[in-house]
Amino acid sequence: QFHNELQELKGALRVFCRIRPMNKRERENHDTIAVEMLDPFTVALDKTATDRQVFAYDTIFPESSTQAEVFAECRSMVQSVIDGYNVTVFTYGQTGAGKTWTLYGSGSEPGISPRICEEIFNFVQRDSEKLDFSVKASMIELYCAELRDLLNKAKDHPKLEFKGYRQADGSVGQRLEGMTEVPVASSSDLAQVVSQGLGSRKVRATAMNADSSRSHFLLIITMEMTDKETGRSRTGKISIVDLAGSERLGKSGVSGEGQKEAIEINKSLTALGDVMMAFTQKAKVIPYRNSKLTQLMQDSLGGTAKTLMFVNISPSSSNVDESISSLKYASRAR
Ligand code: ADP
Ligand code: MG
Repeated sequence: QFHNELQELKGALRVFCRIRPMNKRERENHDTIAVEMLDPFTVALDKTATDRQVFAYDTIFPESSTQAEVFAECRSMVQSVIDGYNVTVFTYGQTGAGKTWTLYGSGSEPGISPRICEEIFNFVQRDSEKLDFSVKASMIELYCAELRDLLNKAKDHPKLEFKGYRQADGSVGQRLEGMTEVPVASSSDLAQVVSQGLGSRKVRATAMNADSSRSHFLLIITMEMTDKETGRSRTGKISIVDLAGSERLGKSGVSGEGQKEAIEINKSLTALGDVMMAFTQKAKVIPYRNSKLTQLMQDSLGGTAKTLMFVNISPSSSNVDESISSLKYASRAR
């Protein structure tokens, strides 16, 4: 009985911790390693020589984990989308902890997102006798409470606003009015659209004189499946969310835009944590309305949606406080 309940919860929300290898700067600084994986589910962090904190998750990925091993834990999500579920994969952690690496990787070591894109079209091919597929991609940036449509090529990427709509069950959902959805017919099509969106993210960050790690970045792939025999159709979607860096910026030295940025990031990440905690505690009211981030993710968190959360951490003693704070955040979601 208990085991079944656990399985059910596990199906809806799984939390992974990925530890990146030491980087050059940390090695040159002779930082010590403050993170130890105790078993595949448990990680210990040494805050000081006498203060060890232990955290448990669904899986710990040590520094030696490959991109393929990480993807193996996510692969089944593509089948869920085809079955009509909404799925979210997101990465949480301080800047430099490996969020973008985990989601996007490099040409020779692709991350979760390019692997999912490829898997989607493997499935399209596999099921093409029975089903007609329509696949569409959108890319959204959320920076300082402003949503931008990265696939709308108009100057500055137009701002998007939510519009309420009545859902089938009578409740009010939120959708982004006028969001660009690009139809894609192959994995190379999709890869090209994604690289266009990533390019816009970079250009915008440079133009705003901000680091791209100060914005939330979402790739949303929607799939509509129509049964060739019955004509019945269903929709599923996967949102891949590269969250802004979770680090607390010091009170001093941050002013103006930087401060507004920090406040907005903090507000949205707190709201996301509150939403996840609410649904793991089976709360009656889920506080989606507290930030644009949670509104944006509303139909892909909780309910029948499936969520994979990655918390990315550095192994180094110099980052141990930020790592512990990320792990505490992730633990609230379990
Ligand atoms: P974030 O997006 O969290 O700010 P990045 O993903 O950009 O951090 O990672 C920072 C740097 O560390 C990048 O140069 C990235 O290539 C490298 N990196 C992160 N995780 C790994 C990993 N597991 N293996 C190898 N390099 C990594
Ligand atoms: Mg990043």
